[in-house]
Amino acid sequence: MSKKSKNRLDRRRFLQASAALAGGVAVNPSLAAEDEKSSLMAPTVLGHLSRRAELPKARGARVVVVGGGWSGLTLAKYLKRFNPDFDVVLLDRKDQFVSCPISNVWMADQVDLEFLTHSYVDAARNNDYLFVNAMAIGLDRERRLLATTMGLIEYDYLVLAPGIDYDYGRIGVEDPDQEHYLRMHYPAGFASASEIMAIKHKFNQFDGGTLLLTVPAGNYRCMAAPYERACMAAAIMKKRGIQGKVLLLDMNPDIRIKADGFKKAFEDYYGDIIQYEPSAEISAVDTEGKAVETDFDSYAFDDAVIYPPVRAARIIEEFGLADPASAQFEAAIDLFKYNLVGDERVYITGDSRSQPFSKSGNTAHSEARYVAEVIAAHARGKEIPWRSPQTMCFSGVRIDPLESMSIIAFYKYDEAEKTFEFDRVHLNERWNPRAGQAGLAWAEGLYRDMFYS
Ligand SMILES: Cc1cc2nc3c(=O)[nH]c(=O)nc-3n(C[C@H](O)[C@H](O)[C@H](O)COP(=O)(O)OP(=O)(O)OC[C@H]3O[C@@H](n4cnc5c(N)ncnc54)[C@H](O)[C@@H]3O)c2cc1C
Repeated sequence: MSKKSKNRLDRRRFLQASAALAGGVAVNPSLAAEDEKSSLMAPTVLGHLSRRAELPKARGARVVVVGGGWSGLTLAKYLKRFNPDFDVVLLDRKDQFVSCPISNVWMADQVDLEFLTHSYVDAARNNDYLFVNAMAIGLDRERRLLATTMGLIEYDYLVLAPGIDYDYGRIGVEDPDQEHYLRMHYPAGFASASEIMAIKHKFNQFDGGTLLLTVPAGNYRCMAAPYERACMAAAIMKKRGIQGKVLLLDMNPDIRIKADGFKKAFEDYYGDIIQYEPSAEISAVDTEGKAVETDFDSYAFDDAVIYPPVRAARIIEEFGLADPASAQFEAAIDLFKYNLVGDERVYITGDSRSQPFSKSGNTAHSEARYVAEVIAAHARGKEIPWRSPQTMCFSGVRIDPLESMSIIAFYKYDEAEKTFEFDRVHLNERWNPRAGQAGLAWAEGLYRDMFYS
């Protein structure tokens, strides 16, 4: 048997392997039955997926990083920095990076799209790792194999940094047709560039009436961003001279962060535009009647941006890693070392982590540098002391020129409560143009760090 055909799993073995994967590729039984019938297509598709990905031969311990966001990009770079002998492969289903941070102020034309957009090829070349444009679809932890749309990749260490997915069920949307309708017509704009672009078009085409925005409950992505987005939407309406209001429905009892600053901004600049409604526990969305329902009220809208609560990216559950006790489908990981409990070869970082840190880019970036050091130390049989991630977040309040507020915070572990809490918080709720520029400089510095050497 040739080496190539030996490496190739046949379709039956692939299905068996899939079922046996330690929380591996979840092959839907009804799809598998369908496959049995569609004899022409299935062997080709599954045959393709079950062979080894054609990658350069590993030149050291291979570390595969899934997800080229703020966490994965930083990990790939610093894994190489802390251990140049690592063979690092960064995998993303997208072929270019468009930043979520700064996208709200981009909607209000305070920066251009080029500012947000960066090349994975540059990042990989400048930092000496391999970038693979593919999607991770399964995991065999026993054999240390990651299944991807390019084929199987063996790893010595695996880092999952796939970000978040939305959990529409938590706003009463269970029907897939309705969820799809919301995703297309009222996108949340907290996960992909396409959603963010659609929202910019929405804001620039809105011709009056009620523009509804929502703030989810739970530990959602970027605590301040929905409030910042309300300011940007109102600023755009003001600039365009549109008669209408931004109805900000918050599932929380109060503004979650920089509350005094946002309240003052809503009153001082957008008093005639922003209507803020706290404790609006959304229980249903009436897509035909264009209304959002809570247990007590119904809020009609002309157009909307509906941000539902979030969960760890779906692959965490699909790979059988989600902790059944976790409301946001996060995995049980070591709170200080980030490895999956019981498996020091698999790590989970960024917004998919289970620690209650702020789901933000700076948190993901500072944490990833630390986790890269943890993995490099593990490969040498060593451990390093825990370091807190750093949360840093600038929020645009006014435009032309951009004026922002900021917060910087660390975390400490509360032994009695067995959880983390904020530590050393520096809050600046007095927005000004200098902080506006500082926010852009912050982002530029981190893009430079992730994409250049
Ligand atoms: C509007 C907005 C404003 C924000 N403002 C700020 C801010 O001012 N400051 C701040 O610090 N943070 C901010 N954030 C939050 C920040 O964007 C996130 O916290 C950060 O992106 C998290 O990084 P991550 O690497 O965990 O996830 P992501 O950056 O989402 O990266 C995850 C990557 O995984 C990839 N992926 C997922 N599944 C797979 C798979 N199966 N196979 C291959 N690839 C996969 C995705 O394509 C994606 O590229 C903001 C976010 C938004 C939406």
